[in-house]
Amino acid sequence: MARILVVEDHPDNLKLMEYLLRAFGHEPLVARDGEEAVSAAGREKPDLILCDIQLPKLDGYGVARQVKAQPALAAIPLVAVTALAMVGDRDKILAGGFDGYITKPLSPQTFVKKVEEFLPAQPNPDDKSPSSPPPG
Ligand code: MN
Repeated sequence: MARILVVEDHPDNLKLMEYLLRAFGHEPLVARDGEEAVSAAGREKPDLILCDIQLPKLDGYGVARQVKAQPALAAIPLVAVTALAMVGDRDKILAGGFDGYITKPLSPQTFVKKVEEFLPAQPNPDDKSPSSPPPG
């Protein structure tokens, strides 16, 4: 389970991402514009941030700048969620401070799997002997 801040101004996309993250056992937190995103990130210290690029008040690049400038937040994986057409701006997205991106339209089949690739490895609480060989 991860706490994931979803920054998205489009209600249908937001609803879909919230639904899919919950369905896979994650806890979505929501911001609908860039300024709200920066304050929610500081307040909630989420495990990961999914961020639209075109947002009211402050765009995704502005969010990336402000989040990555804060030492307490800089290590949080920041993933752009952006239209396929904007992937031509891949270098701009990565140079802008994002750790990666997921393309819209969202694919319900693969969305959460892609999100989870950006999550830091979760320590397995049951695994008390990491040096023991795997069963079988
Ligand atoms: Mn948008």
